[in-house]
Amino acid sequence: MAQEDVFKKLVAHCKEYGYVFPSSEIYDGLSAVYDYGQYGVELKNNIKKYWWDSMVLLHDNIVGLDSAIFMHPTIWKASGHVDAFNDPLIDNKDSKKRYRADVLIEEHMAKFEEKINKEIEKAMERFGDAFDEKKFRETNQRVLANQEKLDEINARFSKAMNATDLQELRQIIIDNEIVCPISGTRNWTEVKQFNLMFSTEFGSTAEGSSKIYLRPETAQGIFVNFLNVQKTGRMKIPFGIAQIGKAFRNEIVARQFIFRMREFEQMEMQFFVQPGSELDWFRHWKEIRMKWHTALGFGDENYRFHDHVKLAHYANAATDIEYKFPFGFKEVEGIHSRTDFDLKQHQQYSGKKMQYFDPERGESYIPYVIETSIGVDRMFLQVISAAYLEEELKKEDGSSDTRVVLRLPSFLAPVKLAVMPLVKKDGLPEIAEKIVHDLKFDFNCQYDDKDSIGRRYRRQDAIGTPYCITIDHQTIDDNTVTIRYRDTMLQERVGITGLKDIIFEKVSIATLLKKL
Ligand code: ATP
Repeated sequence: MAQEDVFKKLVAHCKEYGYVFPSSEIYDGLSAVYDYGQYGVELKNNIKKYWWDSMVLLHDNIVGLDSAIFMHPTIWKASGHVDAFNDPLIDNKDSKKRYRADVLIEEHMAKFEEKINKEIEKAMERFGDAFDEKKFRETNQRVLANQEKLDEINARFSKAMNATDLQELRQIIIDNEIVCPISGTRNWTEVKQFNLMFSTEFGSTAEGSSKIYLRPETAQGIFVNFLNVQKTGRMKIPFGIAQIGKAFRNEIVARQFIFRMREFEQMEMQFFVQPGSELDWFRHWKEIRMKWHTALGFGDENYRFHDHVKLAHYANAATDIEYKFPFGFKEVEGIHSRTDFDLKQHQQYSGKKMQYFDPERGESYIPYVIETSIGVDRMFLQVISAAYLEEELKKEDGSSDTRVVLRLPSFLAPVKLAVMPLVKKDGLPEIAEKIVHDLKFDFNCQYDDKDSIGRRYRRQDAIGTPYCITIDHQTIDDNTVTIRYRDTMLQERVGITGLKDIIFEKVSIATLLKKL
């Protein structure tokens, strides 16, 4: 099945099974805003807990923070967002659709990369174990031609982005004959800058209202509280502050479901270090964050680093962790070495010292900062795209059947176990209810007695429940139940008294955190 079709099915699945709904749906929705349903909110909470615990529990020099969404408007002047948090936009005059000029060019470049990868895949199949990818890349004419074109566009693109040369961005689009995906034409407007921050009025008119911004990132709340936390927590450098919270961006192009939203949630950690040590810490955090992703077991080959071509005005090193989504490798997390830019700016704009006294060095300085920043929603999409599987099942009589299963890591699964009486009589429901009652203090359990057992299993597979417990007539005799495993569909007979320990070991966050 084409990857685009898989993605469409995934979006439909999220809606059908209570994971994600379009916002304000009865009013035809609100573009790039989504609501999380009964299972979605559980998955989201579990992702947040995995991140939070990996930061705050596992590091004795990282603490949390929950700063307000509303902040003094000068903060956004100091951070550079008022003047520079722009995206270059371009309109197609025929379709009247708006695009990000940089994204159009990046998507065009990705096509060359795809062509190269296809050549490599074909050659790999042809030559088997004898295949030497490096040599093939250096000698195959088609690969070389595509690589040359790609390098040429990339060089022009980086130069134009670094110089914020809007005319040149447009010229790259024209020269490469990039067309509007809707109208198929090259009838483009000029490229313009567009600020992504939402603003609103703060205070009533009687007391004199002022313009205020909805924060486009959570990081600034950490910077302006840096000394509050450092002093009250008696933190010594190096130390970090972690925060999870909503952020808002008036994105020009809102596509790909929850990948790019106008209201979303971020998990950010700012790590304060001695000036000069930042690049070592940058490498250190790259490694830690990649491990956090791969520990989920979705396959190391589906992740990669993408170093930035254009460094943001505040950074001296930056990379993205990308995941292979059904629509290609895309950013899930950014890791930036932000220098002392933010604290210095706040010191200048607020007139308050943002310095730290280092007892080891016997001097005061503005620390340098390494930031790790990941979107909860984008991580949610990463997890759910990796977990979604349409599986063909061979039956004993030779015919086949399919099942949709969400192979979520057990800790992340919204429901940990479903408890099912085989029939709704003979005292079986009462035993099932008692098991739910006993286990619900430790796990998210669901009692389910509707439909045939086969259909119940399928329903639990579709929401990603890793364990199903079935109570049958044998249970009455020997106090045992069957436990059915979602991924293998194997069933085992176990004693009711041992259930809690078996499940606990499998779904505990500690099992996951110990892999880090
Ligand atoms: P992009 O290049 O995709 O616009 P960015 O580089 O601007 O993203 P950052 O400012 O580094 O993103 O934000 C950190 C993380 O926040 C991203 O890696 C992503 O996971 C998440 N994020 C950013 N913008 C959005 C959005 N509009 N919707 C959902 N998640 C987002």
